[in-house]
Amino acid sequence: LTKTVEEELGKASYTQDNQRIHIHLNAGLSADTSIAVNQGVDGVGLYRTEVPFLLQRSFPSEEEQTVQYRAILSTYRDKQVVMRTLDVGGDKPLPYLAIEEDNPFLGWRGIRFTLDHPEIFLIQVRAMLKASIGLENMDILLPMISGIAELDESKVLIERAFVEVAKYAEEQGKELKRPRIGIMIEVPSILYQLSALKGKVDFISVGSNDLTQYLLAVDRNNSRVASVYDALHPAVLHAMKHIIDTSRGLNIPVSVCGELAGDPIGALLLVGMGYRSLSMNTRNVARIKYILRHISVSEMEQLSRFALQATFADDVRAQTTEFVDERG
Ligand code: PEP
Ligand code: MG
Repeated sequence: LTKTVEEELGKASYTQDNQRIHIHLNAGLSADTSIAVNQGVDGVGLYRTEVPFLLQRSFPSEEEQTVQYRAILSTYRDKQVVMRTLDVGGDKPLPYLAIEEDNPFLGWRGIRFTLDHPEIFLIQVRAMLKASIGLENMDILLPMISGIAELDESKVLIERAFVEVAKYAEEQGKELKRPRIGIMIEVPSILYQLSALKGKVDFISVGSNDLTQYLLAVDRNNSRVASVYDALHPAVLHAMKHIIDTSRGLNIPVSVCGELAGDPIGALLLVGMGYRSLSMNTRNVARIKYILRHISVSEMEQLSRFALQATFADDVRAQTTEFVDERG
């Protein structure tokens, strides 16, 4: 099996019946990306910029950030790279930024933090834009958006940074491409505001990790309640189905970048629901491509129909596993 899985490296991903599934990487360290550059992936679906921030002793300067972002954008110059703005707080505290809160996951994290610190946000977005000068492959993704006002406010700041960096590029005789802007779908409130995104975002990316955490009101890192945290819970699966159906109707490109996309059962169900773009950690790429290549879309549709009727996550897990095992 290992040999056949390895053969998936370097090949684009197709289902058994030749439907193209776009496979992207989740990354946060340049090491992840250089290893994976030959794995036949379609780009970077989630670059977690907080990772380089976590490795520092103080906020990285605009120049330091520009160098880091440039490295990843140029590694993938012919492929799309989705750079997420800083998502600190919650499970990702910065050692040089003490945030004391009773409920960090419900508190000052992601876009809430950066909109309260526009100087940090602007430095980061300028660094991203500077890094992208002369390249055409950068998308910007906003984490933890819970309402449209946060998106609008972020876009005003991004536009301000764009005007500044475009001027800087022009002075050097270079051109700056306007980035595509998208948001994470990971706070449940946004599930009911998807239609308001039309015309405001260029794409969306579903964060199934936080979406599961917030839908089920369960801390994603607390071992005491780990058994409650289940991305195959009917509520999560129905949310995933609602997102793909609604975004298709609105013509908004969508992908999934939570762990569910890199899980064999999750990937089969997501493709069965209609998703055609999945972003995952490097170590899952070959395995997911291998599994998808051996199952047809109609089979995955059948699996997802069953899953959406199930009352218990364990039944979904058992049924899907049984199907995969029967296929060898
Ligand atoms: C998610 O929440 O699913 C996600 C991809 O983002 P993170 O795990 O970085 O919060
Ligand atoms: Mg998240």
